[in-house]
Amino acid sequence: MDLLEYQGKQLFARHGIPVPSGKPAATVQEAVAAADEIGYPCVVKAQVLIGGRGKAGGVKLAKDRAEATQYATDILGMDIKGFTVHEVWIEGASEIAEEYYASIVFDRAAKAPLVMLSTQGGMDIEEVAEKTPDALARLHVDPLLGFQDFHGRKLAFAAGIPGDLIRPVGAMLAKLYETFVAEEAMLIEVNPLIITPGRDVVALDAKVTLDGNSLYRHPDNAALRDPSAEDPQEQMAHERGLTYVKLDGDIGILGNGAGLVMSTLDVVAQAGGAPANFLDAGGGSKADAIVSAVEVILSDAKVRAVLFNIFGGITRCDEVAKGLIEAFDVVKPTVPFVVRLDGTNDVEGRKLLADANLPNVATAKTMNEAAEKVVELSKTGVAA
Ligand code: GDP
Ligand code: MN
Repeated sequence: MDLLEYQGKQLFARHGIPVPSGKPAATVQEAVAAADEIGYPCVVKAQVLIGGRGKAGGVKLAKDRAEATQYATDILGMDIKGFTVHEVWIEGASEIAEEYYASIVFDRAAKAPLVMLSTQGGMDIEEVAEKTPDALARLHVDPLLGFQDFHGRKLAFAAGIPGDLIRPVGAMLAKLYETFVAEEAMLIEVNPLIITPGRDVVALDAKVTLDGNSLYRHPDNAALRDPSAEDPQEQMAHERGLTYVKLDGDIGILGNGAGLVMSTLDVVAQAGGAPANFLDAGGGSKADAIVSAVEVILSDAKVRAVLFNIFGGITRCDEVAKGLIEAFDVVKPTVPFVVRLDGTNDVEGRKLLADANLPNVATAKTMNEAAEKVVELSKTGVAA
């Protein structure tokens, strides 16, 4: 589960990490009242679950009430990369001498948390990592040992942090690590981690992803989930108990079993297509689960064709076919479908589909054939 910046900062504050104080606001009136209380200059920041808000015009420094009003009006309701801004966070402006970067992620290959530090913060860290890899210091932490002082010193030296800041930056990393472990986070990223003219170290931004499967152990964090801030399709799928991840492409994908869906994504990509989502209908999917899944896939306006890849084990292909026929009755799709049914009751399933004579549905015997067909159909729009 991703947290909004201000939720991340509130989490940081609970662990003694210095953050600017501020207030969230959902209306212009609330924002201006918050700005008046905090004082000027203050910063008006869009709260959306996506980075690059500054570049998109979602972070503005207001020197007085008139500017705060203007910026709150501009930013509330703004669309940032497909995410609508429902809330802003107003915080006291910080004076910035340096912008650093700090993050902690799980490195699954190394089976350990990876801590990263750079003096080149504020900007696109991916670009820094690509163009000047040495500018991004990295260090794995043995999870049984935890983050020790020497980890902080090593990272600070490697990143080229000035001598007087090695201790305070190391202390900051130690607190971030403590937060990472205590809150069962998957990612903590602070960009920028600022150095003030008074040489204080402050987290000016916060990107926190918590492990969704651990939330039952953290009721306070679980309560932070804000369905309106999530992607509408992911929200809809979550409510229906489907495993769904939205992707950037235009080919809707449905399969049964995570492994099969993953390989379907690969095969579609290999055939030159771009999947719009990952959707695992699960083992033993019944007709109504299929209807539900089709509704979720087609609620994404970007989808131009859909690939059903079902390998019947516990899942019965005739059930899937029934679900698809019912879904066509309910949703009346306007985009082409390619269906590959293989395994338990596939003959019955294919017969049901043939008898139903659904408009714009092609069948395929193999996964490769299905992928090639759906990629072509996503371009032409019509099934033969
Ligand atoms: P992002 O673009 O979504 O990563 O949003 P950030 O919270 O990182 O803000 C983007 C940039 O705005 C930062 O790198 C800072 O340069 C600037 N910024 C944010 N808050 C302040 C502030 O309080 N004072 C000043 N001077 N600049 C700020
Ligand atoms: Mn940032």
